Amino acid sequence: MRLIFLGPPGAGKGTQAQRIAAACSLPHISTGDILRSAVAAQTSLGQKAKGFMDSGELVPDSLILDLVKERLQADDTKSGWILDGFPRNVSQAEFLSDLLTEIGQNLDHTINFDVPDDVIVSRMLERGRKDDNETTIRRRLEVYREETEPLISFYHSRNCLVPVDGSLSINSVAAQLESALKI
Ligand code: AMP
Repeated sequence: MRLIFLGPPGAGKGTQAQRIAAACSLPHISTGDILRSAVAAQTSLGQKAKGFMDSGELVPDSLILDLVKERLQADDTKSGWILDGFPRNVSQAEFLSDLLTEIGQNLDHTINFDVPDDVIVSRMLERGRKDDNETTIRRRLEVYREETEPLISFYHSRNCLVPVDGSLSINSVAAQLESALKI
């Protein structure tokens, strides 16, 4: 099974991706986690990405695309994967679509987590991550609307969009996902 988890920051994509990944033995590929590890390890990727992440901007595609290309061809991805936080804009989505054609993989579903802004802001303030202060949260939401939200129609037009109500409890969202994915 190959899945994209799409939705605003704080929508619960990471939590749900971890659960499905464990239940279905799939790798959970979070570009945010990869970048945070790179920042912590002070690699050259981390040094380049840090400023963008701290201010709530997307890191440039040039830092992300090769990394995803390599990750989707690693040995543990044979039976599928869950992409969480990628793609984040139309050019990343087009890159992914071309890449999947090139490596002979099919995307099964894009799960869209729908969550109103007030729920997002209160969840993110509770989460207390380093880039979760109010100014950065507001900027990340703007970036989401401008760059990432157009992917809803991108995947809708490719008939693979599955909507879930991400404002509900963790268990209710998990139940919606399990029924949509028949797992
Ligand atoms: P996340 O954990 O997915 O919310 O990502 C945290 C931060 O990492 C984002 O605010 C971006 O700065 C950066 N990031 C994660 N994934 C991507 C991506 N696919 N493209 C660009 N920037 C990303």
